[in-house]
Amino acid sequence: MANLLDGKAIAKVLKEEIKDEVLKWKSKGVQPKLAVILVGEDPASVVYARSKQKVSENLGISFELHTLPSDIAEGELISLIELLNDNEQIHGIMIELPLPKHISKESVMSAVRSDKDVDGVHPINRGFIMSGEEGLFPATPQSCVEILLRSGVEIAGKHVVIVGRGETVGKPLVFLILKHNATVTICHSKTPDLGSFTRQADIVVAAVGKANLIKEDMVKPGVIVVDAGINETPDGICGDVDFEAVKEKASLISPVPGGVGSLTTALIMKNVLKGLDLQRRNV
Ligand code: NAP
Repeated sequence: MANLLDGKAIAKVLKEEIKDEVLKWKSKGVQPKLAVILVGEDPASVVYARSKQKVSENLGISFELHTLPSDIAEGELISLIELLNDNEQIHGIMIELPLPKHISKESVMSAVRSDKDVDGVHPINRGFIMSGEEGLFPATPQSCVEILLRSGVEIAGKHVVIVGRGETVGKPLVFLILKHNATVTICHSKTPDLGSFTRQADIVVAAVGKANLIKEDMVKPGVIVVDAGINETPDGICGDVDFEAVKEKASLISPVPGGVGSLTTALIMKNVLKGLDLQRRNV
């Protein structure tokens, strides 16, 4: 039976490290600050924004929330982003998604200064992740890597099969994993006989959004499983992996909840500090 890749325990350690780093910035007279923009009143986005506020304040990072009406013009939203870009007291900017239909997500994401783009979605950061240069990268793929490394898993030399090529998780993860010298296979909805690929994996990462997609007969004994999926079911939240069955065959497995998702908010805060560092270098 597998041991757990314990996201909650790792998040605790990560948060202590972030607190220490915030104190170092404060001792140099810098108060790290995150600005979040919320357009409209999508209930999930309101919850996410409030949860970021709580975490950032607990870590000593100042937080400001800009709540805008859902009928705001794209130009007005971009003007606010430009003000925040130029404000030296703001070190990270995040726009809660989804945006109303009349606003172009691409234009808004590209308007955020790349060294304040704590979501890692600016085209420059997408380029940096591919080239291996330093930049700000999305939190969830970073969580997948952190949960492995901080659990003592050696990624180098392993065959990692990533299921899902979404822009938020699967695709950026390919480059983060490659940087750690693994051999990467990426599967998606058009992959025939998914199990024939996942059975070859030393590490399977599921980033799909389909409950119970990865079954026990699709993995080899001793496999390490990272489940980034989040699915709402009548029985509660679950991942993409049939956890109860697969845990009997795996050596390590991340639960949902309590796995990858437990690290993401902390890693957004880490991006605020990394952004701050990049901004100082860019002066
Ligand atoms: P996405 O953009 O919808 O991508 C889903 C991917 O899964 C696509 O590449 C799709 O293939 C593939 N797929 C769909 N059905 C499949 C099947 N039957 N077999 C193999 N691949 C299949 O999703 P995302 O935004 O990357 O998110 C992926 C999951 O991560 C979701 O459950 C999401 O809720 C979760 N998530 C978690 C966190 C967290 O904090 N833990 C954060 C963000 C997202 P095609 O490309 O061919 O369509």
